[in-house]
Amino acid sequence: MEKYPKAVVFDLDYTLWPCWCDTHIRVPIKSVSPTEIVDRSGMKLSFYPDVESILLELFDNGIKIIGASRTAAPEIARKILTLLHIRDKPAITYFHSLQWGQGSKIKHIQSAAKQLNLLQELQQGYFVLYDDELRNRDVVSINCHFAHIPDETVGITKQIFLNELKLWSKFLEQVEKQQSAARKQRQIQLV
Ligand SMILES: [Mg+2]
Repeated sequence: MEKYPKAVVFDLDYTLWPCWCDTHIRVPIKSVSPTEIVDRSGMKLSFYPDVESILLELFDNGIKIIGASRTAAPEIARKILTLLHIRDKPAITYFHSLQWGQGSKIKHIQSAAKQLNLLQELQQGYFVLYDDELRNRDVVSINCHFAHIPDETVGITKQIFLNELKLWSKFLEQVEKQQSAARKQRQIQLV
């Protein structure tokens, strides 16, 4: 059984940090410490507590990390990812691809897969999206497992992360079964 997908996609607002960066943050923002920023109104912001260990676990295991956000302020999101540090490096350096813009996350995920040369892996079920918004579960239609982050007060936690990886391996088995059934069907039609 596979322990990890090939790529893990993270929503940003209310998945990695507790705010909407386009409406709650007043620029300019600056660093208070490697793990905390402050905006013009004095609001402080950090990642949810388990984000650092989750990103490090994936990064250290060679899994591709993708950010996908519908935010109207990608420049602020980028700045947050640059100012907040993980293991002495800007958090943004752990992301292999960042995708922005309105519309379905299907587009974000497809364009990241293309950029990282992982289109086949996506089609085979090797992507997971962690996201607080249930409307984004439409990504299952492109064989990406949807992992819901249900509580904005805690965001992504290690427990949710690991539990969803287990659910993903079941999802992967389903995708494999469907694809093998489709292959058999095609063979029957060819005979
Ligand atoms: Mg969100």
